[in-house]
Amino acid sequence: MTAATIELSGRSGGPVAVPGEALEDLAGRVEGRLLGPDDPGWDDAVRIWNGLAATAPALVLQPASAADVAAAVGFARAHGLLLGVKGGGHNIAGTAIAEGGLTLDLSGLCQLTVDPEARLAHVGPGCRLADVDRATQAHGLATPLGFISKVGVAGLTLGGGLGYLTRRFGWTADNLVEAEVVCADGQVRTASRERHPDLFWALRGGGGNLGVVTRFTFQLHPVGPQVVGGLIAWPFERAEEVMAAYRALTAAAPRELATWLILLNAPPAPFVPAAWHGRRLCTFAVCHSGDPGDAGRDLARSGPSATRSSTCSAPSPTPRSSPTWTTPSPTATTTTGGPSSWPGWRTACWPACGSCSPTAPSPRPSWACST
Ligand SMILES: Cc1cc2nc3c(=O)[nH]c(=O)nc-3n(C[C@H](O)[C@H](O)[C@H](O)COP(=O)(O)OP(=O)(O)OC[C@H]3O[C@@H](n4cnc5c(N)ncnc54)[C@H](O)[C@@H]3O)c2cc1C
Repeated sequence: MTAATIELSGRSGGPVAVPGEALEDLAGRVEGRLLGPDDPGWDDAVRIWNGLAATAPALVLQPASAADVAAAVGFARAHGLLLGVKGGGHNIAGTAIAEGGLTLDLSGLCQLTVDPEARLAHVGPGCRLADVDRATQAHGLATPLGFISKVGVAGLTLGGGLGYLTRRFGWTADNLVEAEVVCADGQVRTASRERHPDLFWALRGGGGNLGVVTRFTFQLHPVGPQVVGGLIAWPFERAEEVMAAYRALTAAAPRELATWLILLNAPPAPFVPAAWHGRRLCTFAVCHSGDPGDAGRDLARSGPSATRSSTCSAPSPTPRSSPTWTTPSPTATTTTGGPSSWPGWRTACWPACGSCSPTAPSPRPSWACST
């Protein structure tokens, strides 16, 4: 990028002029790349999942190490700049991008090592969920992550993290045992239950931006390599009955059985029988991560099974975040439901989701609820 003076958004609101020499100095001190809007790779660096929330920074730094992150944090502090941090870019509000400011695109920090003896995974903040699942499953191990394979490990963990294995092993954040963090003072700290416990507590669910996490270490558990999972579908017209069955199932299900209730227009995907393509459905997405021999018994409680219209459940090789559900960017029709343990959920939610789902134009889920 050219080394002219540029204006960036300041931390306290107004613009800040940063001289070209200061930018050159930063570029010379880091191993990674400093990008302006005309540089190759800019579009990928600033792209986020929610196109509706997209804004643009003035500058992007793609760090190659924690030291680069520390240099960027120091630079932003010294010049009073607005600083954004992008992991997988899937925050729905688009908070990864500092509008008009400096954004750290961590996609290059994707180192990933698994220690099967210690049952630990050390994960860079640029990794996606599928990267971790793939690496840990090679050892018959897993940590609870989310449902969608392209979501970033960083934002998901810092916000809590809910997925197929949460019912059995807790939230993603519960399985975080250590984090390396570049703090606002530029110091690199390792936070755990023993070291900087307050910071560690805040990282586990407090959201991003308490510092920049440059490594996550997760506890792993023996899972798979075979699980029973898939989709059980009913016609949308039976949704109220199915939702009642869902409530009963999730109240009684063992921890190994995770179920996700989704109202959707069936996509023309290979795992959906052709007769159902384009039809409105009420579905359970299930993952039974226990003994495959117990799955049939546990799933038999899944409501109106005798009249079930379509069952796509089958043993599958991993409990991974589903590669099938790599969702496209939204057009404002995706709505996520609340916890099924809320006593009023059926009477209060059903009229709302029942009235919007039949007319939803999107092929994506129009309402979802998970346990
Ligand atoms: C299609 C889709 C499916 C989803 N499915 C699930 C799911 O199954 N389970 C679930 O729990 N959640 C799910 N989510 C929510 C998701 O976990 C959050 O949106 C999460 O913030 C995404 O993380 P990210 O790294 O991709 O996002 P980003 O937008 O990159 O980051 C999110 C926030 O974290 C901050 N941040 C990112 N990296 C760091 C870092 N290294 N250090 C400090 N701060 C950082 C960012 O500044 C930003 O504020 C889903 C979201 C989408 C869009």
